[in-house]
This record gives sequence, C-alpha cells and structure tokens, in this order.
Amino acid sequence: MTQGSLFEDNSSANAKKELPGKFRDLNDLYEHSKDCTKCRLAETRNNFVFGEGNPEAQIVVIGEAPGAEEDAQGRPFVGRSGKLLDKILEAIGFSRKDVFICNIIKCRPPENRNPSIDEIESCMPWLKTQLHFIKPKILLLLGRVAANTVLGSKLSMGNLRGRILRWNGYDVIVTYHPAALLRNPNWKRHCWEDVKMLRGHYDKVC
Ligand code: SF4
Repeated sequence: MTQGSLFEDNSSANAKKELPGKFRDLNDLYEHSKDCTKCRLAETRNNFVFGEGNPEAQIVVIGEAPGAEEDAQGRPFVGRSGKLLDKILEAIGFSRKDVFICNIIKCRPPENRNPSIDEIESCMPWLKTQLHFIKPKILLLLGRVAANTVLGSKLSMGNLRGRILRWNGYDVIVTYHPAALLRNPNWKRHCWEDVKMLRGHYDKVC
C-alpha cells in the first residue's frame, strides 16, 4: 500500500467556502435539497437520489450518477450494480448500513449520458455538504469518471487505483464501478485488491 500525496490540497478552507453552511444536519440538508432545481436534470428526473446509509459512516461510497433503477426508486445503487456492490461490501465485512452510499450527481442524466460540467458544478456542493455532516475518514470512489470528477484529474484507472490518495482532508481509494465489473468480469480481481486495501486502511485509521 502506498500513501500518495497526489491531490492533497488541504483545502478545507475551499471546502468551507463552498459549503452552504445554512443546514443543521444531514436530514435538514435532505429536506432542502430534495426539490433542487439548480440544473436541467430536475426537469427529467423521476426521483432525486440523495443517498442512504449510516449518517456517521467512516466510509462514503460515491458513484457518478443515478441510473434508470435508481431514478425509479429514489435510492442509490439498486438493480444489478447495487447487488454487486452489496456483495463487494459483504466480502470485506460491511453492509450498506455500515457505510453511506451516494452519487456525485443526484438526478439521472437522460439516457444515462455523462453529466455535463455545469451539472456537476451545480450538484457538487450537495455532495460536499453531505461529507461535511457525515465526516467520513475514507471515500471509496467508483469508476474513473466519478474519481476524476471528484479529484479534478484526468487520470486512467491504472493511475488512480492501487494507492491511497488525499482530497479535501479525506483518504480516497478508487476502484471500478460495479456496472463496469458486470461488463468486464476480469476486472473483479483488481476490485478485490482495492477493497482489501480499503478494509486494511479502515482497520488502521478508524
Ligand atoms: S442534478 Fe443536482 S444540481 Fe441538478 S437538479 Fe438534481 S440535485 Fe439539483
């Protein structure tokens, strides 16, 4: 395991600047964000997908955006990808209730297209405020798009995986998105290495 200094920006000052700062707690944040119309995705969503799990989790799992099932149910990581994520978490001794699971973007982009830059910029403050209240030690970023979006980088999975990064005061581990693992089962062994590193790091710092 290597401790990467990449992305360590110690930008709690920046994070604080972007935090709305007007919410009492995670529930209050939910109440104020669930009817968000800050970007065009509000017009096409069926459900806002805030995220779910332990509001005091030490690990927050972050994907890119809700898909069709998530949009229909208003819950993150349901359907086949969600079941695989559950299995991955179980393999290292966690359940959904132990972690908090969410996405960068809270509303489904039509046809599962990639979110645009302005949609990401509109939605990121919600994620940053969620993290502010949850106060996790570790972020598990699922997929290259989610990782590069959060980290503000343009790296390949090969460069993102296999080390512990730092971002805004959080330790960050990147692995494949479960949907990618369903398409490419050969990547599952890489994912297993990543989540074993996650478990080892959790046992060390939490
Ligand atoms: S994607 Fe985010 S910013 Fe856009 S409407 Fe949904 S919650 Fe608001």
